[in-house]
Amino acid sequence: MTPGDELLFLPLGGAGEIGMNVNLYGCRGKWIMVDLGMTFADPSLPGVELVLPDLAFIEERRRDLLGVVLTHGHEDHIGAVPYLAADLGVPLYATPFTAGLIRHKLDDEGLGADDIELNVVPLGGALQLGPFRLTYVALAHSIPEGNALVIDTPYGRLFHTGDWKLDDRPQIGVPSTAEELTALGDQGVLAMVCDSTNVFNPEASGSEQAVREGLDRVITGRRGRVLVTTFASNAARLQTLGQVAADTGRRIVIAGRSLERILRVAQAAGYLKDFPEILSFEAAARANPDQLLIVATGAQGEPRAALSRIAQGDHQLRLERGDLVVYSSKQIPGNELAIGRVQNALAARGIEIITDRQAHVHVSGHPGRPELEAMYGWIRPQIAVPVHGERRHMEAHARLARDCGVPHALVPVNGSILRLAPGPAAVAGHAPSGRLVVDGEVILPADSTTMNMRRKLASSGLLVVTLVFDRRERLVGDVAVLARGIPVEEDETDFLAECAEAAEGAARKVPLAERRRLEDEVKVAVRRVARQWTGKKPLCDVQILSV
Ligand SMILES: [Zn+2]
Ligand SMILES: [Zn+2]
Repeated sequence: MTPGDELLFLPLGGAGEIGMNVNLYGCRGKWIMVDLGMTFADPSLPGVELVLPDLAFIEERRRDLLGVVLTHGHEDHIGAVPYLAADLGVPLYATPFTAGLIRHKLDDEGLGADDIELNVVPLGGALQLGPFRLTYVALAHSIPEGNALVIDTPYGRLFHTGDWKLDDRPQIGVPSTAEELTALGDQGVLAMVCDSTNVFNPEASGSEQAVREGLDRVITGRRGRVLVTTFASNAARLQTLGQVAADTGRRIVIAGRSLERILRVAQAAGYLKDFPEILSFEAAARANPDQLLIVATGAQGEPRAALSRIAQGDHQLRLERGDLVVYSSKQIPGNELAIGRVQNALAARGIEIITDRQAHVHVSGHPGRPELEAMYGWIRPQIAVPVHGERRHMEAHARLARDCGVPHALVPVNGSILRLAPGPAAVAGHAPSGRLVVDGEVILPADSTTMNMRRKLASSGLLVVTLVFDRRERLVGDVAVLARGIPVEEDETDFLAECAEAAEGAARKVPLAERRRLEDEVKVAVRRVARQWTGKKPLCDVQILSV
């Protein structure tokens, strides 16, 4: 599949999911990649935290790949860079703050400039990659330097929004105005590839300025310590919290390494220059609690993050009865249980909790319907391609685009090859796509034998049967059985004895020469015992030793 005289769009991640964004554009034999993100594992991948996109399709064509262009610094857009970019062997392009975050990630993995070429593009800057001319267009988002890309090609102009919202009073950055976006639309846009995250939100996301006012209302006049937890990457929120500290006469304490890193990277890129001086933990312990504002990681219930440890009393910073914890963040679906555990630990200590359900202490970084409608009105594309959403978000987004007068809307899945031009936009084929997991320090397919086995082990447990045969192929000694993760508890000895008996009975029926059948019979026999005892069907391994 080499792009001919045509313009193709191919998502390898992020279509049908919120996370792991990887978008390819193809034209006249060449490809470019926009974003290279990762996502977090769900409980179907025991022992795994990070999930990466499978790039086999483009790795096989890496000679035709001209570069990876990153829109902004969120993990679902840059998180796979340290794992996968070196193998692609192509240059990366990012604006200064995003590049700073990437540089730190590469350093963590021991990757230097010799391994990966990282080019810093100034805000609003442009670059030419083969038939593609890309121009960064600033948009508001929940991290500094949220960018859309205008991609001019021989077949027309694309507007790839990246993640965005409208905010006429952002605390960081200068997003493009309605006039600037309208001017882009006036020049004619073939296709808009757009964020679907909040398509079900009937209201606009709201301004960061309103969060400052909401936090001021919650904290002003409050006695005792106040702790605010938020996403570390939300540097605009850090800016807001610096102002809230000043507004409410409190001093800032930072708890969490990722917050410290973001502050450093943001300040190096010229942001947060007026952030107040940070109090040390020792100074915080001596300070008047009424004058403290702790900013902590852990809003998603991450067990090792500062807030979880503070809630457990396992941190240098302490909270006491009557103190307040404010969740200036949303609950990411799937994290409710972990967040609930931390909130219960806080509640048990008599600490009050305020979330965005009780007060206006958070705004989203993604566009609600009024914002999407406004953007379609300004850009007026011929084709809408929803991405950055689950299927239900993307289908609803396609309907919204049609209602906004967009003539064509196409909903891709990961691997869909969409021909955007020439001729009517249509699905032109399908490329292999998939997921990889980072398991310890090994990267392997999410549907590999290892992960399938891991899942079965985690859910069903394991029985290991060892049979010993002598040189005349006679079963000798006792049959040994080991049980791991099978719910027999104090009855284990009796259970193992019955398993051994069943295994021995089965083994005596089949000659050793028919080894495969022997193993199968033994497995069936011990699994039957396990099912009778526990109702579970554990994995079973049969080991045959000769003496
Ligand atoms: Zn984002
Ligand atoms: Zn995103």
